[in-house]
Amino acid sequence: MSSGRVILVVEDNAQNLELVEYLLEEAGLEVRQAMDAQAAREVLSDEVPDLILMDMQLPGTDGLTLVAEIRQREALRHVPIIALTAHAMRGDRERFLAGGCDGYISKPIQVASFVSNVRSFLEAAERGGG
Ligand code: MN
Repeated sequence: MSSGRVILVVEDNAQNLELVEYLLEEAGLEVRQAMDAQAAREVLSDEVPDLILMDMQLPGTDGLTLVAEIRQREALRHVPIIALTAHAMRGDRERFLAGGCDGYISKPIQVASFVSNVRSFLEAAERGGG
């Protein structure tokens, strides 16, 4: 059963992308995928997703730059963006939140908790009316 919610996953690691897509689709969410900033721009020029999962370490245009771009577009300003990052260092979270992300999920992806984390962010955004 589909919830009708669309998640854009921006991730250059094919294995992570496949895992995330599998978990989200299994949970009834629709997935759009992009392996770099340009592919993400193309998806975003066609539709406004309900949430964006953003690997912060992308080839070329990095995650923070892409987040800043997205936040400048009126139609996308309120779409929740959750950073996916292997960075475990204190300070990164603050840097990503200050840069326009709404939350943070650490890699490697924890299969048991990933979908419930994503759902919490979706629900928080819906409650916020944003
Ligand atoms: Mn990456």
